[in-house]
Amino acid sequence: MTSVPNITLNNGIEIPQLGFGVWQVRPNETKAATLTAFEVGYRHIDTAQMYGNEQGVGEAVRESGLDRGEVFITSKLNNGFHQPDDALKAFDTSLETLGFDYLDLFLIHWPLPGIDVDFVDTWKALEDIYASGRAKAIGVSNFQPSHLRRVVQEGTVVPAVNQIEVHPFLTQDEARAANAEYGVATEAWSPLAQGLVVESPVIAAIAKTHDKSPAQVALRWQIQRGDIVFPKSVTAERIRENFEIFDFELSEADMGVITALDKGQRTGPNPDEFNWIP
Ligand code: NAD
Repeated sequence: MTSVPNITLNNGIEIPQLGFGVWQVRPNETKAATLTAFEVGYRHIDTAQMYGNEQGVGEAVRESGLDRGEVFITSKLNNGFHQPDDALKAFDTSLETLGFDYLDLFLIHWPLPGIDVDFVDTWKALEDIYASGRAKAIGVSNFQPSHLRRVVQEGTVVPAVNQIEVHPFLTQDEARAANAEYGVATEAWSPLAQGLVVESPVIAAIAKTHDKSPAQVALRWQIQRGDIVFPKSVTAERIRENFEIFDFELSEADMGVITALDKGQRTGPNPDEFNWIP
């Protein structure tokens, strides 16, 4: 079976570089999709309180026959729970819903810079959770370099990861450089640009030369850049296809051509302007 490399986070915890994302997977389909991912070989699942499907992820882990320690599970604090007391309670609810006694990684989902709770105060609540041992690592998501800098300077724990939107049309050079500068691993969300990468003739041409699919090439580009990725699909063939990316290598020239597709195109909101609370 293909083996997925691990990335060692800044606190020594190891995370599989390829995982399975479950945003927009319906709650009643989540257990089945996650079980399919486990069968294919994925051992890392990216969920969030906002996705409403943590329960299905927990059920899949229990039904898979895998030990809890064999899988890496990430969840994220929902918007609207940034007050430190609310964050602590929301974390407990996540554990209860998943049916776990710890999470591998817990993130602040969005910085929400315009709300009346400072994300540094929210971060301090995550530091308390980390100190309790119930999250093996903590991190942030959608933090711009200016947000990350404040957390690093004003907090006591450096985030293990910053999960940001990255794909060939949004290469995020500045944010990735800031993450690297602080020793924060980059997790690339929407690595397929929500499916748009398969429409690129440039990626399709490179894929042809490797006898691979455009999705596989886009994911491989991210793996070779060193980012952590977790593509989403509910289709068994695609879940498998997205996993088969460790038996070929893109040349430096291929890498450069794909990186040059950058056009600053976001598929999701700009974190500087996003203050939405469900
Ligand atoms: P993605 O880039 O992984 O694209 C998924 C879509 O691409 C699928 O719905 C399907 O339409 C298509 N697709 C998947 N595999 C394919 C294949 N092999 N060939 C052709 N098309 C294929 O999109 P995503 O779900 O937005 O992102 C992945 C994960 O990132 C999410 O599930 C979630 O875990 C995470 N995420 C996090 C945030 C955040 O704010 N932190 C935001 C968005 C996504």
